[in-house]
Amino acid sequence: MRLEKVETNADVVRSRLAPTPSGFLHLGNAFSFVLTWLLTRHHKGRLLLRIDDIDAGRKRPAYVNDIFDNLHWLGLDWDKGPKDAEDFEFSFSQLKEPRRYAQILEELWKTGALYVCTCSRSQVQAACMNGVYSGTCRHRNLAPDTPDAAWRVYVPENTIIAIPEYSGTVRHVPLAREMGDFVVRRKNGLPAYQVASLADDFHYGSNLIVRGVDLLPSTAAQLFLARLLPPNAFGEVVFYHHPLLRDPDGLKLSKSAGSLSLQALRQKWQSPAPLYRALAEVLQIKSGRVSNVEDLLAAFSPLHLPTGEATLTGLW
Ligand SMILES: [Zn+2]
Repeated sequence: MRLEKVETNADVVRSRLAPTPSGFLHLGNAFSFVLTWLLTRHHKGRLLLRIDDIDAGRKRPAYVNDIFDNLHWLGLDWDKGPKDAEDFEFSFSQLKEPRRYAQILEELWKTGALYVCTCSRSQVQAACMNGVYSGTCRHRNLAPDTPDAAWRVYVPENTIIAIPEYSGTVRHVPLAREMGDFVVRRKNGLPAYQVASLADDFHYGSNLIVRGVDLLPSTAAQLFLARLLPPNAFGEVVFYHHPLLRDPDGLKLSKSAGSLSLQALRQKWQSPAPLYRALAEVLQIKSGRVSNVEDLLAAFSPLHLPTGEATLTGLW
């Protein structure tokens, strides 16, 4: 079982909290952060705070501050990464690392798997097949320095990516069907999220990645890219794709659910104790009083990590 592999691995567990400053964080983000923190601390691992701001168009200072406010409120600490918003902008913003991403893009280009695409958003949509890009530019052989063009990676039909899960199971994602020939470099020259995330995971040596099941196609895309690159350790990464938190009506929580923003809950509750009591139930922790994340950690067993539906009862 994979769990034992993580525990007996001589290498220390290295994971990361990777919020995006494109909106105010909500209960679903807290769920993901707490699961990541618990699993990493349980393994006495190292935790990085990595704020993914490569898609800077939607970034606002208020969203960056919101990340720090919520992590402090939740009582979650980290070992590496920015200590506050100023430190983040000064030393850790992804926009400060153009070389790191350019190198990966150059390596990918050398593999011959990339091609240049000049399609506009509406052209892509018009030519879409089953929701993915149809590959119009695949055989045009445009030069990599073509202006106002994106780079895509050719994903052969029937590509299935096997994803090793923390529980010991393996998930299989049909990448071509899910993502098609996805973009790796955007028209503005910046790396796409898949490349920036992968490059940072290389750089920081992540070996345990916790994220929601909605990011399974992204995980598959990143594993696909990692396999195109020269030998690297990304193939050793173990993933825990947790279920998405749902409200009692069975609906997915989303950023649009304003009343469930952590900002609103902070004002309503002052302390995160109600949240941690609800999480104790999801994690099948029955004994004792739980009022903070340390209490949860003391009684936490990875064997009880949620795999099916997750609903926080008693919160609504
Ligand atoms: Zn195109």
